[in-house]
Amino acid sequence: MNGSGASAAGCADCGGKCCREYKVGVTVRDVRVLAEGTAMHPSDFIRLLDTDKEGFRLRPGGPAKKLYLQRSSAGTGCVFLMEIAAGRARCGVYAHRPLVCSTFPLSIQRGVVTPREETICDIDSWNLAGMDLPACRRELIQDRSAREEHRQLIQAWNKIVDASDRESTPQELYDWLMDYPVETP
Ligand code: SF4
Ligand code: SF4
Repeated sequence: MNGSGASAAGCADCGGKCCREYKVGVTVRDVRVLAEGTAMHPSDFIRLLDTDKEGFRLRPGGPAKKLYLQRSSAGTGCVFLMEIAAGRARCGVYAHRPLVCSTFPLSIQRGVVTPREETICDIDSWNLAGMDLPACRRELIQDRSAREEHRQLIQAWNKIVDASDRESTPQELYDWLMDYPVETP
């Protein structure tokens, strides 16, 4: 995902395995930043997939759904991944990419910024000594705050759905997410 901490050589040589192989789940904050940065509507780059965890519902008692980045029509990865040469690719929305992308594969564990275990990256791709760890920490904290806001929006939306007598469409959900007055963290 071309995280802010990856060594440039590591990501360049890898060809974007993470962007090709992961299903990338995003927050409402990420959807807003992408929509505003690209002038695209969320329905052009977001898909809803069922989850057994907390998520947006489209009808009372219906399945919970999470927001994911769409895949390219060729099935070669994230819809925003741009092929630039054989085996080389770059993020086409780098300045607006989701926080899960910009922080990948780092996490905060016991207060320390640490690479996650069992990621798709070759371990040699990463050099903690060469990373801007304070910037990584800020983004990880920003992502945590965005996830809390995301949970609050799930609850607010689901209340509306429960009070309605008809099924909502994904488009209505996306419009509501874009219009709901929250500050982008
Ligand atoms: S938004 Fe960019 S960094 Fe994130 S998965 Fe898509 S191509 Fe990769
Ligand atoms: S899998 Fe790892 S090394 Fe490869 S592009 Fe993604 S973050 Fe970079």
